[in-house]
Amino acid sequence: MWARQAEPGRLWIGRLDFRSDLLSSIEEFAAREKIEAGRVEAIGAVEKAVVGYYHQQKREYLSIEINENLEILSCLGNLSLRDGQPAAHLHILLGDRRGSAKGGHLQRGTLVFAGEFVIQELKGPELVRGFDGETGLPLWEKGGK
Ligand code: ZN
Repeated sequence: MWARQAEPGRLWIGRLDFRSDLLSSIEEFAAREKIEAGRVEAIGAVEKAVVGYYHQQKREYLSIEINENLEILSCLGNLSLRDGQPAAHLHILLGDRRGSAKGGHLQRGTLVFAGEFVIQELKGPELVRGFDGETGLPLWEKGGK
């Protein structure tokens, strides 16, 4: 196990724009505010969603398109640096008109109908993603400055 201590920094609460891309909106906000590490939560609704499922044997994400209007029951994740830019890692749980849940690793193409978010900045040592050979994923590098 690896962990680093962090302290709370700035805190935002806000609204996502109609028909914006959920993942890109969060990342653009983080870049504009220069948030290098943080936690993210959002609720609301999407017109459609694109989520990923990581195939552990193939070491690649399978992309799942969900072409229906859905509630964002929960969208949680974090912000850290990848290639020097703030990158969001978000997982999303969606509810359909029957109350059934579906979801996955949030990908671009998820279109916001309405959304409310909270972003908590975290201060402390750098939190940087790099390629992890065991999993094939861009995981946090142990250590850091
Ligand atoms: Zn993920």
